[in-house]
Order: sequence, then C-alpha cells, then structure tokens
Amino acid sequence: MAGTTQIKPVTSLALFASPDVVDPTLQSFLQDASARLCQWFGEATERGPLPADISLPSVRPDKRGLPFAALLDELQVVMEGAYQPLHPGALAHLDPPPLTASIAADLICSGLNNNLLAEELSPSLSRLEREICRWFADTLGLPSGSGGVAASGGSLSNLMALVAARNIAGLRDDSMAVVVASEDSHVSLLKAIRVMGLMDDALELIPTDDQGMMLLDLLRDRLDLLKENGRKCFAVVGTAGTTARGAVDPLVELREICSKQGIWLHVDAAIGGVFALSEQTSQLVNGIAKADSITLNPQKVLGIPKTSSLLLVADLSHLSNTFSTGLPYMEPAWSESHGGELGLQGSKPAEVLKLWLGLRQLGEEGINDLLVSAINRRCFLNAKLDASSFNILGGPLHLITFTPKNIDQKKSLLWSATTREALLNQKFMLSRHSYKGKYYLKAVLGNPNTKSIHLENLAKILNDSLQKKS
Ligand SMILES: *Cc1c(COP(=O)(O)O)cnc(C)c1O
Repeated sequence: MAGTTQIKPVTSLALFASPDVVDPTLQSFLQDASARLCQWFGEATERGPLPADISLPSVRPDKRGLPFAALLDELQVVMEGAYQPLHPGALAHLDPPPLTASIAADLICSGLNNNLLAEELSPSLSRLEREICRWFADTLGLPSGSGGVAASGGSLSNLMALVAARNIAGLRDDSMAVVVASEDSHVSLLKAIRVMGLMDDALELIPTDDQGMMLLDLLRDRLDLLKENGRKCFAVVGTAGTTARGAVDPLVELREICSKQGIWLHVDAAIGGVFALSEQTSQLVNGIAKADSITLNPQKVLGIPKTSSLLLVADLSHLSNTFSTGLPYMEPAWSESHGGELGLQGSKPAEVLKLWLGLRQLGEEGINDLLVSAINRRCFLNAKLDASSFNILGGPLHLITFTPKNIDQKKSLLWSATTREALLNQKFMLSRHSYKGKYYLKAVLGNPNTKSIHLENLAKILNDSLQKKS
C-alpha cells in the first residue's frame, strides 16, 4: 500500500521556494521581512540601545504551521526585545552596526545554503574564502605560503591556532605543555586550554605595564623558569587590542623572543587586526606580519555581521597538517584543501560572503575612514573627560576605559554600576569592566553613528557623575 500512495505536498504554506518559477509569494515575504528590518533600523534613535522590556512569542511549533503574516508578527516581537547596535549611544562592546551590503550578503548566504565543508558543496564560495584569506594575509604582509580559514568567532580562531601550535611543536601528548600570554589576554585562551585537555595552569599569565602591554622582562624570566622546571612552551600569545583597553603588546619584541627560543608566536588581533588594513593605522599593530598565526575579527570593528573571524597563518600547510583527517565521503578538493580540512569546523556557512561584499562596499577609503574615525572619536571623548578626576586608561585603538581617581574597589563598583544605569536612562550604553582590582566604565567608539554632540553629552554626564556624592 505504501508503494502506491501519492506523494503530497507537505502543506500549502510555501515552505520552500519553487524550483520552476520565480516564486511570487516568497518574493513578497522577503520584501515584507526587509521592510520590518528597515523599520527597526529607522526607529533606533527613538528607542535606545537596550529595549524597555522583553517578551517572547511561543517557542513551541503549533499543531498547524503559521502563514507569512503571522510569522512576521512574531518576528517583530523578538525584534522589539533586541539590542540595537545602530543607536548612536551603543558604545558598550565591539558590536557595531552591520554594513548594509553585508546584510544582503547574509540573506543570500542563507538562501544559497552552501557548505564550506567541501568544495562540491560550495564551488564558488570555497574559492572565495581561500582568496579572501589570501588577500588578508597579503595585505598584512604575511610571507608566501601563508593563508587562512574563516571561523565562527575569535574564540574558535584562537583555539585552532593553539591546537596547530601544539601540534607543530610536537607536544600533543605533553600534558605539562604551556602557553604564555599577558594577564590582559582574552578569556578564550583559558577555554582553549581546557578544550585541549590541559590544566588551567597551562596558561601562564605575564603582568602588564601601566600601558596594558605585556612586560617583556617578566616574559623572559618566565620562559627561563619554565625551562628550568622542564615545562615546554608551545606558544606565546601577544594581544593586539586588549579587551580591557585596546592595548597592543610589543609584537616586534615578542617575535624576537619567540624566534630565539623556537616558540610559535600567535597574535590575538581579534580587535586590532583590521587596523593593519589601512596604511594610516597599520603602524599601530606593527610586527603583526611576523606572527606564526593571527586571529582577526572583522565582526568587531568593520561592521561585518557576526560571526566573522579569520585565522591567518604564515604557513598554510600547518593547518592542513594539524586538522586534515581525510573526508572519505567527499570528492577530492579541486585545488588545495577542503575548508573542513583546514580547521575544526565541519559544516560551515559561507560567512565569507558578507565579509567579501562588505569590504567591496567599503573600498579602501571606507575601511580607512571607519578605522580612523573610530580612533578620532576615542581621542575626542578622552579630551572631553575631566582628566583631573578620572583615571583614564587607553591604548592606540578605539577603546577608552576610566574610573574616578583615588577610589577603592568598593566605591568603584558603586560608581560604575550607578553611572551605567544613569547613562542607560540617557540612552548611552557603556560596559563595566573589572580590571586590576577596580571597576571601570568602558566606551568602544566603533559606532559610526556616534557624533561629536553625542560624545559631548556623554562626557558631560560622566563628568557630572563625580559631582554627586557616591
Ligand atoms: C572578542 C575577542 C576574542 C573572542 O572572539 P569571539 O568572536 O567573541 O569568540 C578573542 N580575543 C580578543 C582579544 C577579543 O577581544
């Protein structure tokens, strides 16, 4: 009986686009969905960075599926509760507004639904990913033979870099092997250590100076001490753009130290890496080109929608040597390696599409403008803050971190919490950062919608916060 049953359509809800004709219902659905998104963008200033309250529609599928109009209404409810990166006061983190071309590219990416695991499932897109990684590597100045792989976030790029470094050092089965980074390095390194089956003490943290840069003498001492104790170091991680304040470790000196000792240098440039793309700012991350591996997150500064991270390596064969297992269920790669043979991820969307189209939209001038204007906004806000009352920490990038002078930890906690609340009431969102024993407020000036007038208002609220007794 089963053999004679006619195959019926699943429902009449136009679940999939017609493969025969340009589908008019899908077209109007996508138009309506984009109209909702444009509306949401257009109301950003009116609303503020954070929603007043959050409600959610049902998460459970109803017995019968919903038509387009009902779906859009439910989407709207979720959108009402979203963080709004376009608001000029959205300055808390490294989550800038998305580039318009990248939004379109992401939509197309979903529609194409290609898989970067293997070339037969993404013929043009696999090549695009390889080419754009190579362009980044060339532009940063990496040697020939370099390349990279796209990753869904900087945490993953850092993990892959450390796994490759350990593998190339021949220390895969050394449970005492260590990584050295600064105390201001990113928390994802500790996660990586745990994933790699090492104990937490395998991450050795070197203190930073009053500029937030790794103290090189202490690094040398620590490397000597490790050697004395018989512990092998498979990577030193320099940070180009620390999360706390945007400091850049001395990369040239780190290279010298690592080369002398034969240690892999990974540069976590999740924040600072893109500054190497413009001649006007590349000096800020000088030395990055000599790294063995680099994590770089276009999602954090350039407005490429999440996730967009790249792991670049000086020698691409290190990645395939580390991650290649063979893909017995796939046709061989037409050129070099399949995407899935260069890193940890298997099935993977073509995140490269929104990166590529976004960069094409920006052009060299647009990239430069974004980077330089972000730094200029940081300088502007810095100048407006009352320097006699604030302890201001910064770095060469677009982050600024500050707390009132001469207060203890408890008072800094109170000040940062109450001031953040007061700022949110004025539609400014800054982040609180616990750093070296005190609480700070941090502004990340990567939002191109933030104008001088906003920063003047922000500085005034901050300066006034010190007048009130806390
Ligand atoms: C954000 C960040 C990461 C992690 O990147 P995700 O994309 O959030 O996983 C790593 N290192 C630094 C310095 C960062 O700022």
